[in-house]
Amino acid sequence: VKDNYQKRYAVYDGLMRERMMDEQMILREMEFAIEQKQFSIYLQPIYSVVKKCDTSAEALVRWVHPKEGMISPARFIPLFERNGFIVRLDHYVWEEVCRLLAEERDKLGRVVPVSVNVSRLDFYDENLLEFFMGLMKKYDLEPWMIKLEVTESAYTDNPQQIMTMMRRFQDAGFKFLMDDFGSGYSSLSMLRNLPVNILKIDMKFVQEIVTSFRAAKIMEHMVQLAHDIHMEVVIEGVETKEQVEFLQEIGCDEIQGYYFSKPMPKDEYIERLAGSPVV
Ligand code: C2E
Ligand code: CA
Ligand code: CA
Ligand code: CA
Repeated sequence: VKDNYQKRYAVYDGLMRERMMDEQMILREMEFAIEQKQFSIYLQPIYSVVKKCDTSAEALVRWVHPKEGMISPARFIPLFERNGFIVRLDHYVWEEVCRLLAEERDKLGRVVPVSVNVSRLDFYDENLLEFFMGLMKKYDLEPWMIKLEVTESAYTDNPQQIMTMMRRFQDAGFKFLMDDFGSGYSSLSMLRNLPVNILKIDMKFVQEIVTSFRAAKIMEHMVQLAHDIHMEVVIEGVETKEQVEFLQEIGCDEIQGYYFSKPMPKDEYIERLAGSPVV
């Protein structure tokens, strides 16, 4: 018995150590990595059901590590949200997105809007709007070209302050998406007050629509509700034809997921845009 326990403990210990090393590596190298431009943006196109083509994309950060290869955001975003480094990374990502939009404008003569993720911590910066306006000026862009994705849980932090800030953004012409809608608490009551334009329903719903009658019905009614209060709906995490057909039937506006395309590097994304119809 004792032997077995020791063996099991050794495995556990090994895993723990690996995880800690991993965390330490990430924390040790993050500053250097941002300076060395090891972070890059990937773009995942978003398909419009009405227009039957891609009408926007989401920017998702990747860490291309010289030794470790591609590190998924699941491994570093939660750490950066704990130590605050996410604020620096987000600023970097937003600027990279603006560079991309300027490149589209110069190469293709048109711009397809991109949504960026905005972390809860980003709202502590009183000059957040000024930062975005600075980017608009520097790259000669307009606010409709960038949409801001904020997860519903972020609003619970400091709703009054965030709401005031969001209104200022909206007055300037930016749009907000509520990300991962339905994954947390008090989702419905938040819809009453928050100046959000687009609802992005959490992928757990779409992944259950085939197996769960309830998930399907809830999805259907969420889309209806959003439309009733003049919001658009994006469904993410869509992987199968059955899901797409269901979503078209219930009238959702935009679809994002592996079924249409995975997140791709910037150059590939621009090439894809170049070969797609103008809408
Ligand atoms: P998210 O904002 O909910 O992004 C959607 C995630 O779902 C992405 O994971 C995307 O690659 C993945 N996804 C897209 N389509 C499908 C699909 O059909 N099936 C499945 N199973 N997954 C799909 P990713 O890129 O690993 O990002 C994970 C999370 O990391 C994001 O979740 C977001 O919360 C965070 N994140 C990524 N980039 C940034 C960033 O620049 N700033 C901040 N603050 N957070 C970021
Ligand atoms: Ca997002
Ligand atoms: Ca999401
Ligand atoms: Ca998420």
